[in-house]
Amino acid sequence: PGLPEPDPQTGAAVKAADRAHVFHSWSAQDLIDPLAVAGAQGSYFWDYEGNRFLDFSSGLVFTNIGYQHPKVVAAIQEQAGKLATFAPAFAVEARSEAARLIAERTPGDLDKIFFTNGGAEAVENAVRMARVHTGRTKVLSAYRSYHGSTAAAINLTGDPRRWASDNGSAGVVRFWAPFLYRTPFYAENEAQECERALAHLESTIAYEGPQAVAAIILETIPGTAGIMTPPPGYLQGVREICDRYGIVFILDEVMAGFGRAGTWFAADLYDVVPDLMTFAKGVNSGYVPLGGVAISGKIAETFAKRPYPGGLTYSGHPLACAAAVATLRVMEEEGVVENAARLGAEVVEPELRRLAERHPSVGEVRGVGMFWALDLVKDRETHEPLVPYNATGEVNAPMAAFGAAAKKRGLWPFINMNRTHVVPPCTVTEEELKEGFAALDEALTVADEHTV
Ligand code: PLP
Repeated sequence: PGLPEPDPQTGAAVKAADRAHVFHSWSAQDLIDPLAVAGAQGSYFWDYEGNRFLDFSSGLVFTNIGYQHPKVVAAIQEQAGKLATFAPAFAVEARSEAARLIAERTPGDLDKIFFTNGGAEAVENAVRMARVHTGRTKVLSAYRSYHGSTAAAINLTGDPRRWASDNGSAGVVRFWAPFLYRTPFYAENEAQECERALAHLESTIAYEGPQAVAAIILETIPGTAGIMTPPPGYLQGVREICDRYGIVFILDEVMAGFGRAGTWFAADLYDVVPDLMTFAKGVNSGYVPLGGVAISGKIAETFAKRPYPGGLTYSGHPLACAAAVATLRVMEEEGVVENAARLGAEVVEPELRRLAERHPSVGEVRGVGMFWALDLVKDRETHEPLVPYNATGEVNAPMAAFGAAAKKRGLWPFINMNRTHVVPPCTVTEEELKEGFAALDEALTVADEHTV
């Protein structure tokens, strides 16, 4: 896209007001320097100085159809003109249609949709549904996970960010899901790691008391914690364990869903159907905040004659739902899911494997579809991470240098601890990917300087 004329004066004013008044997520307020964004289109965004960036982060992994899709923008405008808002206890066209389109795409009998404003609220409500449905309280969640930053969601989260708000996590028990590259157990291959992880989960349940466990929650493919695709058989094994003990199986597809994994839902890749599935982000590419829980027949039945004890003023907001309807139609019309699957397999994976051969800082390449991670290391032999796993948001020098090098070359990377994730919009083109990988190649030479 043609860039508008640079306008550094407006950029400076935007930045000044931000620095004076906006309190940013996960940040030491005086140590950050947010880029002032002037606009965005497709896979790119630009600042007021005339710099354009190819977005390999999809925002926070949510712009699955890219920025400013004209059909979604028009649908939001049209809905605003027709009925900009309405309370949740009514049947509203945009809401009904969004629920129908989502239910048609979710696996199995996940046919009822509870709408929220985002992922964390979806997790909160899924857990509440599971607790009421079973009459049990404990929820098992994995270390190396991210489920959001509200009360229950942050306690279920298995990364260091929960420390500040964790009161010993009443009702939450954590376990080690499979991750061969950094398993804390002994395992030589994926099959052993899978077997180990299932045995560990089952013994955790035995010690906690199966009659006390309401739910197991897992990201189908843990995203923020490192895009760890599960070994074959793992999720089906968890499904069987849940069935054996009457435990509700919750899959969190907030990041992995709606095309990201090259399928409508990552669960489709593993042929597994949870009892509850949370979603957000890609459902409408984040054009208006929206998330939700897709509910199986069995759990919907619990709330058929007794009220569900939960609700939100903006549940199923018409603008958000209209954006979802338009997004899902665009995804069908433009073959967005197929694009993510095809370019993921034909371009992203081979390019990343080529980078891994050239750069000693790349320890492991993981992923599927448009959902990939490079695990950056100091030492390929020991897998020692490029930065230690103590990151609670502080800047770490080698990753900051890598990030700056990428940005200098017009690539906006996603960085978390010692990893860079390659998560462009699912609408990305082959040419854009090639451009991004050329920049990534150069930026990785900066990471290489920190290897042994
Ligand atoms: N669950 C998963 C798997 C996520 O990746 C995220 C956000 O990244 C959330 C939940 C929380 O979503 P939100 O930030 O919309 O509350």
